[in-house]
Amino acid sequence: MSSTNQVIRCKAAVAWEAGKPLVIEEVEVAPPEKMEVRIKILFTSLCHTDVYFWEAKGQNPVFPRILGHEAGGVVESVGEGVTDLQPGDHVLPVFTGECKECAHCKSEESNMCDLLRINTDRGVMIHDQKSRFSINGKPIFHFVGTSTFSEYTVVHVGCLAKINPLAPLDKVCVLSCGISTGLGATLNVAKPKKGSSVAIFGLGAVGLAAAEGARISGASRIIGVDLNANRFELAKKFGVTEFVNPKDHTKPVQEVIAEMTNGGVDRSVECTGHIDAMISAFECVHDGWGVAVLVGVPHKDAVFKTSPLNLLNERTLKGTFFGNYKPRSDIPSVVEKYMNKELELEKFITHEVPFSEINKAFDLMLKGEGLRCIIRMGE
Ligand code: NAD
Ligand code: ZN
Repeated sequence: MSSTNQVIRCKAAVAWEAGKPLVIEEVEVAPPEKMEVRIKILFTSLCHTDVYFWEAKGQNPVFPRILGHEAGGVVESVGEGVTDLQPGDHVLPVFTGECKECAHCKSEESNMCDLLRINTDRGVMIHDQKSRFSINGKPIFHFVGTSTFSEYTVVHVGCLAKINPLAPLDKVCVLSCGISTGLGATLNVAKPKKGSSVAIFGLGAVGLAAAEGARISGASRIIGVDLNANRFELAKKFGVTEFVNPKDHTKPVQEVIAEMTNGGVDRSVECTGHIDAMISAFECVHDGWGVAVLVGVPHKDAVFKTSPLNLLNERTLKGTFFGNYKPRSDIPSVVEKYMNKELELEKFITHEVPFSEINKAFDLMLKGEGLRCIIRMGE
């Protein structure tokens, strides 16, 4: 039975204030408007980007808000104009979209859709600049167009990847952000050659997915850099061959890496969100051919400083959202890579909690424990 045009009352985890535990509330979720889809979220997980916007230390505060952007769900109802999704379809919501009509969507090189590219400050839907969530008539803001910490959410059709209904949503939900981001940063952007050396800064789920991409590309040396030594044991399962903890050295980590690799690595991928690591990741690539890719979400006031000579010496600096994947066109085939056993997702999933204990997932991430924590919405 479709409940199109009806308001749904359900549970959502609301961030009322920066840095305060989320509160499970009963919210009203309005029906989907033009080009929107209402989905039932079954599983969601926590990515560090949610934590930055919840802490709102280095980001603009937008509260009260329903966070969450890494998830898997089922279409409940569709709004006017939606033709390629119907109730029952399995979908992954994505924080950046694909309208399929703009110059970016038509370009093979870009996933920065003009209409639906990531906007972290907007807390409303594009169609009417209003929120679909409320509590007793008071609007609650959206987050990056997804707001998956709710049993039901409304998403623009262009931010939903329709996937194989046989794919287990409690596993493939991690492809909705972190794992696709890291994997794509290496495979689509850094593009290491077989036998090359790759440095990965930050060994969380995103960085280890980037390491997985380096392994798949046939890199012979994968150097993991992290301040948290606990990450090193975990990273061995992802093909990381050597470790550098910047805390163990008195000289800058880019110099340590240059010494280890006879002048620098062929590729580096930064997945920390810290400006110092971004600069080191760039400066540790070899002159002449090295390519560095930035993935971490920086503090809003961060400024990247390096000598222009580092660029003149033929190093390349790039950045990417969502690993340059176009969500609707590319993600269904990344899901198939998991179904064909080319890509392992289980090793990224270190914890699980029922929805009622969602704050535990935040504690784990703040303590730097584990990689991805799956939040089971039905419980
Ligand atoms: P995480 O917290 O699980 O992992 C980050 C790791 O970086 C941690 O192990 C931490 O110890 C390490 N680290 C922090 N500062 C460091 C430094 N200066 N040097 C070396 N290591 C350092 O986070 P995650 O969920 O894997 O996300 C990683 C980053 O990617 C975050 O900044 C997140 O916002 C960003 N992200 C970007 C995109 C995108 O599309 N560009 C998508 C998803 C996530
Ligand atoms: Zn994310």
